[in-house]
Amino acid sequence: MRYDGVVFRPPSEANSLLIQATVGCPHNKCTFCGMYKHKRFRIRKVADIKQDLESGYKIYGPGVKSIFFPDGNSIIIKTAQLIEILNYARQLFPDLERITVYGAAKYVMLKSVAELVALRQAGLSRIHSGMESGDEIILNNIQKGSTPDEIIQAGLRVKQAGIELSQYILVGIGGTARWREHALKSAGVLNAFDPDFIRLRTYVPVKQAPLWSEYVAGRFTLLGPHQALAEIRLMIEHLNVTSHIISDHVSNYCNISGKLPEDKAELLAELDAAGNIPEAHFRPALISNL
Ligand code: SF4
Repeated sequence: MRYDGVVFRPPSEANSLLIQATVGCPHNKCTFCGMYKHKRFRIRKVADIKQDLESGYKIYGPGVKSIFFPDGNSIIIKTAQLIEILNYARQLFPDLERITVYGAAKYVMLKSVAELVALRQAGLSRIHSGMESGDEIILNNIQKGSTPDEIIQAGLRVKQAGIELSQYILVGIGGTARWREHALKSAGVLNAFDPDFIRLRTYVPVKQAPLWSEYVAGRFTLLGPHQALAEIRLMIEHLNVTSHIISDHVSNYCNISGKLPEDKAELLAELDAAGNIPEAHFRPALISNL
């Protein structure tokens, strides 16, 4: 396989074959994100993607169980081309159980439900989507490129098409100024489409991203560990979903995992217990290898 630059994947795709379908991100404006700031966006040729699938076949054989197609927002690929890629992947790897892509609401909204259904029928089983927040002011501040209503419409579209939706919330991205709004409005938006997975990441400033300079200048105040836990607690309290909620990322101050609504009381108790741990025992505010 050929990879252009650093390739990012969700931790849940650690065992997946990674085939780069896009290079960079077509949006690339989110102020907190430093992943693709140095990459010029392009969609790779279908022939090149197929060649990389063949390379994967030569290395791993036909038994590959899951494939993830990075880089950013690979759902943007034209539906007919994506179907061709998905079909070829399933032809090479008949035991495939999961094929996934990244797709923020802005790009999911470029597909009709009928197109999403066709993608699901061709093998697309899950979309990883970073909504980050349900608060309109925060979404504007971070230049996410979607409104809460668009996030809801995109979520409903994916669910209607029968594709699993893994939705990402960026804990602390409202800073100390909007942590309550972030928690409550994110819960409200998530309640509207009930994703299969809610995955938590905690905002950690990175130098490659525009928000870094706001943080350094003191115009953006990070949440401390206890505040971040309180924000998650408030959001979970107000969630009325049937999602799995998972904090499967090094950025988080506390590792929680459960199924809602049945595990809600247990999750809240875990957060309360973590909130009693002295702040000095948590990770430092910055993480060098993010
Ligand atoms: S967070 Fe996602 S949509 Fe935003 S710039 Fe980064 S990769 Fe692109």
